[in-house]
Amino acid sequence: MSYRTVEIRWIPKTAAEWRVFTASRKEAARLWSDLVTRHHRLRRRALTWPSKARWERWGKGRYPGLSAQSTQQLIGEFCEAVHSARQLRTTGHADARYPWKKPRYHDVVYTNQDARVRNGCLLLPHGTSGRLRLLLPRALPGRLMEVRLSLATVRLICEMEEVPRPQQRVIGVDLGVNTLIAATDGDKALLISGRAVKATVQYRNKRLASCRQAQSTKTQGSRRWQRLQRRRAKMLAQTHRRVRDLLHHATRQVAEAFPGATCYVGKPFYDAAEHSGRRHAHQVSSACHAQLIGHLDYKTCGAIQVDEQYTSQTCPVCGERNKGRRTYRCRQCGLTAPRDVIGSVNILAVGRHHALAPGRSVPNAVHWVHPVKYPGPKPGSS
Ligand SMILES: [Zn+2]
Repeated sequence: MSYRTVEIRWIPKTAAEWRVFTASRKEAARLWSDLVTRHHRLRRRALTWPSKARWERWGKGRYPGLSAQSTQQLIGEFCEAVHSARQLRTTGHADARYPWKKPRYHDVVYTNQDARVRNGCLLLPHGTSGRLRLLLPRALPGRLMEVRLSLATVRLICEMEEVPRPQQRVIGVDLGVNTLIAATDGDKALLISGRAVKATVQYRNKRLASCRQAQSTKTQGSRRWQRLQRRRAKMLAQTHRRVRDLLHHATRQVAEAFPGATCYVGKPFYDAAEHSGRRHAHQVSSACHAQLIGHLDYKTCGAIQVDEQYTSQTCPVCGERNKGRRTYRCRQCGLTAPRDVIGSVNILAVGRHHALAPGRSVPNAVHWVHPVKYPGPKPGSS
């Protein structure tokens, strides 16, 4: 079974809707903050964290402004957050933090027993806070499993039926920063520029820094501070949408260039990037790679992750290992090709033969494209 998330933009329209919306999000935040307090208290006394079932019994009836299912769902999320923080700390990530934030508002989560679709409307119950009713813009792609109500966004997680897709060929996909996607089936290669994504992320970071700088001279919570906070949220939402759009266009191009293909995707290998001091490049890429893999998985015949260690350094013809810049040059056999093409050829070999196998050929037909159209004036037009 696969899952698809449908995002709809929604904001309450009437005063009554706003009341229900705010009350439920405040109640969710109260539950979360109570759990944070209790977790902190237990940790300070070195007591063990009780099981999820015990917390569910504890939460029963305490939060009348939420439905019982939403309460359980949020408790489950908190327990998962505690668990993953504990796992990270035991595996040597000492800076991993347990949930600590006590928010004023928190997203409300609904199960499919709570949230119901009736006549094209989504009904969301909240115990004593009231019920929200919102119109769905289109039919859902599958069975509704979970709903998440955030500020201005409602996320509907749907379960999709597995449609058998005829597999015709396999391709190797290398993900990067400057070249967002390099894909090859052995005969031709498609390189998609990642400059637009990188520029958007850099622009976002720059604007975030200047917002922080401006806010540091204001009193927290003051009107000027709030104005900056709103500007920041707007900018973040804009850049998020822009990146999402670019990623969708890029993966669509791969799906159209190689119809009916199963992708072998290099598993992002971030430790190397961190150790070599390319922290920034790492931040740019880590934000998008998981999303890219998700998009590829449903737009093509599935994405399988393989180990990408040394795939961009090893010569696919003779097997010699060379370090290179953007253009790869082999010292032994004199092969010259774009580095990302080498990476995708090797990933394809790893996917097919479970090891780096020399003796491949490198595709001559290399096609460079931008995810959308060429940004800026057309080359040679001025
Ligand atoms: Zn070579």
